[in-house]
Amino acid sequence: MLETPFTYRDNIYHVEDAPLDDIAKKAGTPCYVYSANAILSRYKAYDRAFGNLPHRVCYAVKANHNLAILSMLARAGAGFDIVSGGELYKVLRAGAGPANVVFSGVGKTAAEVEYALEQGIHSFNCESEAELALIDALAGRLGKKARIALRVNPDVDAETHPYISTGLKEHKFGIDIQEVEEIYQRARWHSNLILDSVSCHIGSQLLNPEPLVAALDRMLSLIGRLRAKGIAIEYLDLGGGLGVPYRPTENAPSIADYITRIRNKVEGRNVTLMVEPGRSLVAEAGILLSRVLYRKKNGNKEFIIVDAAMNDLIRPALYRAHHEILPVKRDPSRGTVTADVVGPVCESGDFLAKDREIANVFPGDLVAICTAGAYGAVLSSNYNARTRAAEVMAAGNGFRIVRRRESYEDLVRLEKV
Ligand SMILES: *Cc1c(COP(=O)(O)O)cnc(C)c1O
Repeated sequence: MLETPFTYRDNIYHVEDAPLDDIAKKAGTPCYVYSANAILSRYKAYDRAFGNLPHRVCYAVKANHNLAILSMLARAGAGFDIVSGGELYKVLRAGAGPANVVFSGVGKTAAEVEYALEQGIHSFNCESEAELALIDALAGRLGKKARIALRVNPDVDAETHPYISTGLKEHKFGIDIQEVEEIYQRARWHSNLILDSVSCHIGSQLLNPEPLVAALDRMLSLIGRLRAKGIAIEYLDLGGGLGVPYRPTENAPSIADYITRIRNKVEGRNVTLMVEPGRSLVAEAGILLSRVLYRKKNGNKEFIIVDAAMNDLIRPALYRAHHEILPVKRDPSRGTVTADVVGPVCESGDFLAKDREIANVFPGDLVAICTAGAYGAVLSSNYNARTRAAEVMAAGNGFRIVRRRESYEDLVRLEKV
């Protein structure tokens, strides 16, 4: 188990060696705070666990696309899994080379495919025959060859939240594993495609690795069948999906155990194994730091109103996701309170916690909304014309602002009357 970068020292919550009240003073609130070493150590846990099996760890950029995170991972040797032209642009701006970039997603546009071909990315994870035809045509026009993996739907139940489960027939993602062999056969007619890869991604926040292992077994048999038909598969991309504990009572599989399990099945099969972790690299490395504005009571119900809202962190409203909320200054003598923790946005769905027993915090106190490094800042919006939060990267006892808080001017920059 990798250690958390967030700990109490003398009853002050710290990120690595930096006290979070200092960060709030410099960066303001609400702000996201990330630990550089937590992200790096998780990336290295993946990389190390593969041992000398040929592999690539492609960070799923959609979990958090802050340039500071991308450039740090690029320097550490990571590849990247992107789902849009914008993500490719950010990855390249962060200094990463295109050679370790894979392009996933069910709706790539012609402009995005062209951009990726021109940049020379490693491969496309394709979701339909029509997409194959488009990539083949655009590659031909540009005089390039495009490496293709079909994204297979292995039809295993990821046993996760319905919005983040993707590996069943009923989902929009992937191509049915029953149909995929014929599509590879037909795709041989496309002369600008290199057909040497298969991919899948069955869902997110998997706390049980068994469905991932089951998907791997199905993918390995598929590779055997494709090879028997003369389609020489060299790359197997198993996608992301490893979960993290959002509650103290939850247990997630360790990165090392999970990778060791799948490595053992792939050893000797003559494939380069790729994974696309997003959440498991960054979720536990980040918090959302917020200040209490007010307390109020409606009847018997307590509300703690904080300066962060659903536009900053939508996971509780969208998935009813649980995020622990901890006081930055711990004072056990104050006891606890059971309350809804809510933001200033004018929606009843604007809550960060419901009926939660948390430390008895008061206006002016700082709170850390935990495990917010993944699918937090990237899903933020300007709803209610709220300026997006600052983002801070901490390492050791230092930290810097890696995305400044938006200004009111930023809110109108792209508009005209
Ligand atoms: C979202 C996504 C990932 C990352 O999933 P995590 O659960 O964050 O690890 C990887 N691959 C694809 C294709 C995705 O859509």
